[in-house]
Amino acid sequence: VRGEAAALDVEAVTVRFGALTALSEVSLRAEPGTVHAVIGPNGAGKSTLFNVISGVYSASAGSVRLGGTTLTGLRPHRITALGVGRAFQNMAASPNESVEENIMLGRHLLTRSGFVSAGLKLPWAVREERLHRARVVEIAEFVGLGHVLHLPLGTLSYGDRKRVEVARALATEPRVLLLDEPVAGMNAEETRRMSEIVLAVRESLGITVLLVEHDMSMIMSVADRISVLDFGRLIADGTPAQIQNDPAVIAAYLGT
Ligand code: ADP
Ligand code: MG
Repeated sequence: VRGEAAALDVEAVTVRFGALTALSEVSLRAEPGTVHAVIGPNGAGKSTLFNVISGVYSASAGSVRLGGTTLTGLRPHRITALGVGRAFQNMAASPNESVEENIMLGRHLLTRSGFVSAGLKLPWAVREERLHRARVVEIAEFVGLGHVLHLPLGTLSYGDRKRVEVARALATEPRVLLLDEPVAGMNAEETRRMSEIVLAVRESLGITVLLVEHDMSMIMSVADRISVLDFGRLIADGTPAQIQNDPAVIAAYLGT
């Protein structure tokens, strides 16, 4: 893991798609080394927020900072290189490639020139690739995939494939990890394992986690703080206990 845990600051971010305002002056601060959840009904703007943070969408107004560094306006690969790792909901994965190779894709950003093609490898490149592979094995073991490293990704269960996505994001050595609905579609056992990974990312790696999830019991068991979006606006921000009892949050979920 590189550097210290970093805070992520979203300041008054507005995102418009034509006439639609998907995010309206949304601010939040994920404190270093915490799990910060973002919840809200469908269409509230949660994925849009992640897309702005990771540079996939540009903000119409406002700013995003990681530690002291402004991310606003940077390209996605720069933002990843600066320490924002992301597990994509529908990540382009290669089902015929091994788990190891799929996690290795997250390493490309850290290499001096990408991986040098076979046959052209200079001694430093060979040594560097060996170090990257060793780190990939460590990360795979961290998420409980050490025993399936050499299997084709496509032969894994759904829950295991979701953990490969998280491992790939961790392979970019993030300071902040963005997880968009990591337990969607998972059974109870897979959900429990993913919750443990999220907690271990915070405890053992000291990485700040920004988590979008619909599974309330999962959220309540892992989140230090929760920000609530509704129709693109921040309607509440607080501890799990505060959020559970917040009248505006209850109203948003009941649709009243
Ligand atoms: P959530 O993840 O909270 O369910 P999203 O951030 O995906 O919500 O979407 C918020 C709103 O922005 C929705 O109305 C959605 O249709 C709209 N939206 C998201 N991305 C785009 C886009 N690329 N173009 C147009 N509208 C979009
Ligand atoms: Mg979404």
